[in-house]
Amino acid sequence: MNSIPVFYSPKLVANAHSYSPSSGKPALVIESWQTLGIPIDIREPTPATEYALCLAHGKTYVQKVLACRADNGFRNRLPEVAASLPYTTGAFVSAAREALNNGKVAVAPVSGFHHACHDNGGEFCTFNGLVVAAQVLKKAGLVNKVGILDFDQHYGNGTVDIIRTRELDDWLLHYSAGAEYEREDQAEDFLKRIPELVNRFNDCDIIHYQAGADPHVADPLGGWLTTAQLAERDRLVFENAKSWHIPIAWNLAGGYQVDFRNVLNIHDNTLKACAKVYLTNVNE
Ligand SMILES: [Zn+2]
Repeated sequence: MNSIPVFYSPKLVANAHSYSPSSGKPALVIESWQTLGIPIDIREPTPATEYALCLAHGKTYVQKVLACRADNGFRNRLPEVAASLPYTTGAFVSAAREALNNGKVAVAPVSGFHHACHDNGGEFCTFNGLVVAAQVLKKAGLVNKVGILDFDQHYGNGTVDIIRTRELDDWLLHYSAGAEYEREDQAEDFLKRIPELVNRFNDCDIIHYQAGADPHVADPLGGWLTTAQLAERDRLVFENAKSWHIPIAWNLAGGYQVDFRNVLNIHDNTLKACAKVYLTNVNE
């Protein structure tokens, strides 16, 4: 592999005000990644269709949000947010398809998925791209099993809600670190467990990995992993997925430090770990 496929379009960034701390993040992440000297192949995501969104959400919720007649996950009904949502989820679906296709890895620099429940959003999450992508691949007959590995600070309640509501648990596996980790004294134990956590998905056809930045010790909403430990987390995830020959599609999440450069550094480190494991001739 000579470059990391990255699914990004300016259309997935809602050009709107300060309704979310992470609304402008994808553009800033791309800008930062382009300075790292790591070969990335930026590709246009295919926007998610209403049909695809309805594979993980109630039809009424999907239609009302897209028509700005119900609140999105940012608790507003702005048309620019509604217009961006199919691209946000679509970017992750595109990354998942590509990872499955190349057998290794692809990334969508988007966030705002795991608190999105079957019939409502919240906490900056409107549609659950992690589950939508799994459902799209499953319905297309491209996968038997999918694993969602959620290493955000917070529990992926939306993911759990959809898996329960749609009864997907026989083929859609889910682990959310937010269910059991939150303290600095747990960090070493967590890092030691990562091989086992990835191995839980060893019969999956793909892993959807959410690389949250908010577990960082300095994050106002997080607080238990250092920058170096987050980088080690990512290295362990990619190395173990690769050793099991499981393709991995990953995205961003969280990251609320006031100095946004610190958040960008964490996302930079995830790309560096990814490149080191998957790219040939990258020594960084
Ligand atoms: Zn979070």
